Amino acid sequence: SEKQKRAVEDLVQEFTVTPKLLIDIKNNFKEAMNKGLAKDGQTIAMIPSYVVGRLDGTEVGSYLALDVGGTNLRVVSVHLEGSGHITTHQTKYKIDESLKVGEAKALFDFIAVCVDSFLDEHSIRVRGDTEFELGFTFSFPVLQTSINRGTLISWTKGFNAAGMVGKDPVAFLQDAFNRRHLPVRVAALVNDTVGTLLAHAYNHPDTVMGVILGTGCNGAYVEEIPKIGKWTGERNAETMIINMEFGAFDKERSVLPLTMFDNRLDRLSVNAGKQLFEKMIAGMYLGEIARGVLVNLIDRRLLFGGQISPELNQMWTFETAYMSTIEADSTPTLSSTRDILESTLSFTHTSLVDRQIVKCVVELIGKRAARLSASALSAVLEHTGSWKQKSSIGIDGSLFEHYPSFDSDIMDGLVEVFGDEVRKNVSIGLAQDGSGVGAALCALLATKYS
Ligand code: ADP
Repeated sequence: SEKQKRAVEDLVQEFTVTPKLLIDIKNNFKEAMNKGLAKDGQTIAMIPSYVVGRLDGTEVGSYLALDVGGTNLRVVSVHLEGSGHITTHQTKYKIDESLKVGEAKALFDFIAVCVDSFLDEHSIRVRGDTEFELGFTFSFPVLQTSINRGTLISWTKGFNAAGMVGKDPVAFLQDAFNRRHLPVRVAALVNDTVGTLLAHAYNHPDTVMGVILGTGCNGAYVEEIPKIGKWTGERNAETMIINMEFGAFDKERSVLPLTMFDNRLDRLSVNAGKQLFEKMIAGMYLGEIARGVLVNLIDRRLLFGGQISPELNQMWTFETAYMSTIEADSTPTLSSTRDILESTLSFTHTSLVDRQIVKCVVELIGKRAARLSASALSAVLEHTGSWKQKSSIGIDGSLFEHYPSFDSDIMDGLVEVFGDEVRKNVSIGLAQDGSGVGAALCALLATKYS
């Protein structure tokens, strides 16, 4: 109907990131980067990672990686074979809920038991008194104080082990290893974006940036130390990787095109007023934004004849993975879209027009996320000048991996900023296992440059 058409046109207006807006956001983001490099406590934190030195893929050796921060903990052995080749073995261990909220010592003793049994299981033994170097990915907010020291700022994601906040997780881990006499040294404490950059760099030595587009979004890039105004540490290396924490961008709400749907999601989130950029981009949120738009159209009786299903009436039921399926649906009747709406979300009847409207809403939100990511990436490429040279960006995360045309939408955005030349110079690729391979490579660099 005419009313439906107008409603969709309004949504197109609200959700489209025009080329001009993309460039405005890029400029604003670049300013925020410079502020973060100059001073602590800025919108984009720009945290020095203490990771210096570059990889060229010729590095060899065996390292361990430990990934703590989700439902499972993961131990990985990583064998670097040179010429960009890597083999890995990994085992996942379930962390019991009681350990997540018990005494910190018990949690870390459990982790040490897992590493011990991993060494047995994979018949990894060391001769003499050589030790294994381990890279520790600990995906919680940490203030890093050296390559293998930091303090936990707060627990997140259902963890709340007692006596840890303000303490060094590496010290807890090393003590637990020592109690069991494990021949393992924690060589590096690693942020997952930094790990992603390193993992990509082993195969693509011209890597300038590592990005996560998964549950959340964030990125790390290679910076020249003289440009890090707030850095007061060693200056004997030329470059250092910066963990940007860019999901926090635009706390001032001065440039992001927030719609009422974004404001609503933010208000209902556990961290209202925070991570606004992340909430417009990351996998955790896109489905819920789409749900908000669909419910609004239903309330205005412009979709599904004004009827909602009990499923769609609940928060977080419209998964971002559904959006990938709907985007990829090129059947004339939109049959996979129908499956999601009628089988998964229990709508009794949907018309083709309903399904077309749903697809259109999904496309607007997905494209907006990719184009906002492009403004962040182009800010970094412009700041570093790397868009003019051959360079690679490694991206990890299910959103980037599975969402149709996320990569080409990002590249189109870069072309709007830099022109066609950037297509030849900058390649964007799926990075492998930043928290495993990347953490191991971080342990290698830490050992080499200490
Ligand atoms: P994490 O970032 O926690 O390490 P992932 O990279 O797997 O883990 O990202 C998980 C996020 O990716 C979830 O928010 C989920 O909604 C989203 N996701 C999972 N599958 C898909 C998919 N097929 N398409 C788009 N997003 C997806």
